[in-house]
Amino acid sequence: MQRVLITGAAGFLGSHLADRFLTEGYEVVGVDNFITGSDQNITNLQEREGFSFLNHDISTPLYVGEELDGVLHFASPASPVDYLELPIQTLKVGSLGTHNMLGLSLAKSARFLLASTSEVYGDPEVHPQTEDYWGNVNPIGLRGVYDEAKRFAEAMTMAYHRYHGVDTRIVRIFNTYGPSMRPADGRVVSNFIVQALRNEPLTIYGDGSQTRSFCYVEDEVDGIFRLFHSDRIEPTNVGNPHEFTISELAQLVIEETGSQSGIESLPLPADDPKVRRPDISVAREILGWEPLTTLHEGLKKTVPYFRNLVETENAQARPLISD
Ligand code: NAD
Ligand code: UDP
Repeated sequence: MQRVLITGAAGFLGSHLADRFLTEGYEVVGVDNFITGSDQNITNLQEREGFSFLNHDISTPLYVGEELDGVLHFASPASPVDYLELPIQTLKVGSLGTHNMLGLSLAKSARFLLASTSEVYGDPEVHPQTEDYWGNVNPIGLRGVYDEAKRFAEAMTMAYHRYHGVDTRIVRIFNTYGPSMRPADGRVVSNFIVQALRNEPLTIYGDGSQTRSFCYVEDEVDGIFRLFHSDRIEPTNVGNPHEFTISELAQLVIEETGSQSGIESLPLPADDPKVRRPDISVAREILGWEPLTTLHEGLKKTVPYFRNLVETENAQARPLISD
């Protein structure tokens, strides 16, 4: 029996990842301080055999008695609305939190996997983004607290690999969506679906011509699971290479929900990347992985989850700037 520790286990991706590792027969120790997580995700996991949980802020050191075979570091505010509200906590969990989790991995001789992000490429001048692109990030801009924390986290991870011999992996995750996102998470897919289900206008920032490439959570977790078990040390893009404008996404969501919603235009946030699409040649070749779920299919699987929340809990979207 192997045991992994997952930080951010009460969050969207961390909870799906914990579920996958439990399904594969691992014991999972989840860690979270609920700063952007949800009780419900932990309640669901606690019903599974082999899951235990520590309520802890990993920006402070964490001592674990049990042996660990892996540490997967997913704790961090991830929605722009969250990290703009939590700039210091975001910088701390990316820097101090990553340092603490690398120290834990070293002490336990555990494999370490960092959840990095397409945001390390910033507002990219290379399109689609390949792993060897160094990025175009404004270090002192509002988004810099997240982007630079993740860039530091990658540097720290490589330093622990090179100087301490820790067995490390780095996944650069591109926009992922699916059930168990918070309705008020603030990211575009959850905002649009909740707004559409409530027949409220969909809030498009700017002219809606900016692009993103959306990956369904089951595909994303499968790519991460494969990367964890591979020999690949260098950062690896894991995302869906099909690119959509934000206006196209809004239209798809309105169709899928059968909504009467119109559109509300809001200002484009500073430094909002104009384009984003992963080059996944490395993941295809080394992991034998590519996403299987189209955006249309993924929305079909995601809308019922949000519909239930909107009908039972009066769930609301959380746009960045509202009138
Ligand atoms: P999320 O906000 O749903 O989950 C993050 C979790 O981390 C939350 O449960 C939160 O409470 C916890 N957390 C934050 N700071 C903590 C701390 N100091 N100590 C303990 N727990 C803490 O976000 P998510 O979408 O699940 O993202 C998970 C990870 O994946 C993040 O590291 C994020 O940067 C990365 N990522 C996600 C996406 C995406 O599209 N979902 C894209 C790129 C990168
Ligand atoms: N966006 C939008 N309306 C919303 C939320 C987001 O138009 O209600 C846009 C945002 O400006 C960005 C894209 O959608 O261009 C993706 O935003 P998200 O917050 O999901 O994540 P990002 O990819 O920017 O980290």
